Amino acid sequence: MKAGLNLIEASVLLENNETSSVELTKIYLDNINKGKELNCYNTVSFEEALKEAESSDKRRREKKSKSRFDGIPIGIKDLFCTKNIKTTASSKILSNFVPTYESTASQNCLNAGLISLGKLNCDEFAMGSTNKTSYFGSVINPWKSKNSDAHLVPGGSSGGSAAAVAADLCIASLGTDTGGSIRQPASFTGTVGLKPTYGRVSRWGIVAFASSLDQAGPITKTVEDAAALFEIISGYDSKDSTSSIKQKENFYDNLNSSVKGMKIGVPKEFKSDDLPTSTQKAWDDCKKLLQENGAELIDISLPHTMDALPTYYIIAPAEASSNLARYDGVKYGIRENGKNLIEMYEETRSIGFGDEVKRRILIGTYVLSSGYYDAYYIKAQKVRSLIKSDFNEAFKRVDAILTPSTPSTAFEIENEPKDPVQTYLNDIFTVPVNLAGIPAISVPFANDENNLPIGLQLITNSFEEQKLLNIAKNVQDTINYTPNLDKWWIK
Ligand code: GLN
Repeated sequence: MKAGLNLIEASVLLENNETSSVELTKIYLDNINKGKELNCYNTVSFEEALKEAESSDKRRREKKSKSRFDGIPIGIKDLFCTKNIKTTASSKILSNFVPTYESTASQNCLNAGLISLGKLNCDEFAMGSTNKTSYFGSVINPWKSKNSDAHLVPGGSSGGSAAAVAADLCIASLGTDTGGSIRQPASFTGTVGLKPTYGRVSRWGIVAFASSLDQAGPITKTVEDAAALFEIISGYDSKDSTSSIKQKENFYDNLNSSVKGMKIGVPKEFKSDDLPTSTQKAWDDCKKLLQENGAELIDISLPHTMDALPTYYIIAPAEASSNLARYDGVKYGIRENGKNLIEMYEETRSIGFGDEVKRRILIGTYVLSSGYYDAYYIKAQKVRSLIKSDFNEAFKRVDAILTPSTPSTAFEIENEPKDPVQTYLNDIFTVPVNLAGIPAISVPFANDENNLPIGLQLITNSFEEQKLLNIAKNVQDTINYTPNLDKWWIK
C-alpha cells in the first residue's frame, strides 16, 4: 500500500475494502518502530490500538461504522488526558500520571472510531517552540537541510504531532496552540496546522497552560484532512465553561475553494527586512496567486500586533503560574519527600519541573504579585484588547489576512539561541492570533534554498473557519505542494 496516506485517502480505501483498520494500524505501528530515532512518541499504544482496530473492522463488516473515518490511526499530543493511558505533558512531574478520564477532544475522536496510536512528544507543559524542553528529549524534525546532516527542531510545542504526520508515524494528529504551537511546527514540517477560534474545541481534559489562550486543533497532511478532523473534535461541551454554543458545522463537506471577490489583507507591520528572502518570496508569490485566482489584496495595519509578544509573555506565564500550582506532590504525579509539607512541595516542584517551566512560573508569579500586578498584568490585558480591536477593524475591510507563519524555517537542534527571548521570537506572527482568540491556519507553500518547508498563515475573524479552510484549500490546490522528504531514518 502507498505510504503517506492522508485521512481522506485512508477513508476511501477502507470504504472500498481495499484495506482494513488492522492493516493500516499495523503499518503505522511499524512506521513508529522504524522511526524511533525521531522520538515523536512518549507512549505507543501497541496492544490497545490493534484491539481497537479489530473492533473497527468488525463494525465496518456489520455496517455499523461510527463515521467514515472509523478505523483510521492518529496520534494525540501528550497534553490530552487519555483514560488509562499515561499523560505526561512531557514533564517529569507528570511522568507517572495515568488519568481516569478522557479529554473531550480525544473522546470525540474515539466517538468517530479513530484509533489512537499513542501520545506524542511535545515541549514540557506546551512551553516552547523547539520541543527541546521535553523531559523525554527533543523530537527530531524528519526534514534535513540539503547540505547538512544536522538534526533540526520540528518546532513546538506540538513538535511530535507535526513530525509524526510529516514522517508517516500517524495519518493525522491532535495538537494544541497557545501562542503558535500548532502553526509553527506545522510550518517547520511541511504540514497543515489549524488553530480554531477560542471556544470551538473543548479544553476539558487538556492539561492547562494558559487557559484564556489554549486551543486544540488538528495537524494534517492536507486542508481537507484539517477540515475533517476539526469537524470531529469541535462542538459545544458543557464541561468547559468557555466552550462556544455555536452549532457544529460540516467543514469538510462544505469546502469550496473559490476566492473570487474575496479581500485579503496584508498587514504592513509584518513586513521586515529581517525576513529570509525565500519566506518573503513565498509570501509575495501567495499574494500573486490569490490575486490571479480572483481575490483582491488590501494593505492593512494592525498597529498593536508588534506589542503582542511582550503582552503574551506576561499573560501566558501569569496564567501558567496559577495553573501549575496544582502540581504539588499531593494530588498528581511524582512526590519528593521533605522534612515537612513545605519542603515536600519545594522538593517536588524543583525536581519535577524543567528550566523553561520554572522560568515561566517565576515570571508569572512576579507579574501577578501585588505592586506589579497593575504595572504588568493589567497593562498587558489592556494591550490585549487593543490587539483584538485592531483585528476587528481589519475584518471590517477584509475577509482574511495573509502572513508568513514563522520568521524562519527549521533550525538546528544544537543551534538554538542561548537567549530565550530569541526563541520566543519564533512566535511573533502567531501570538497575536491567540491574544485575539481568532482562528488561523498554516499551509505549506514552498521549500527554501535548503529544501526546508515554508508555511504561510491565513487568519480570519472568529468562527469563520469555513472561510479560512476554503482559502487555504485554494492556495493548496493551486500550488500543489508535494513534500519531497527523504526518509533518512529508514535504513
Ligand atoms: N512557543 C510559545 C510558548 O512557548 C507558544 C507555545 C504554545 O502555543 N503552546 O509559550
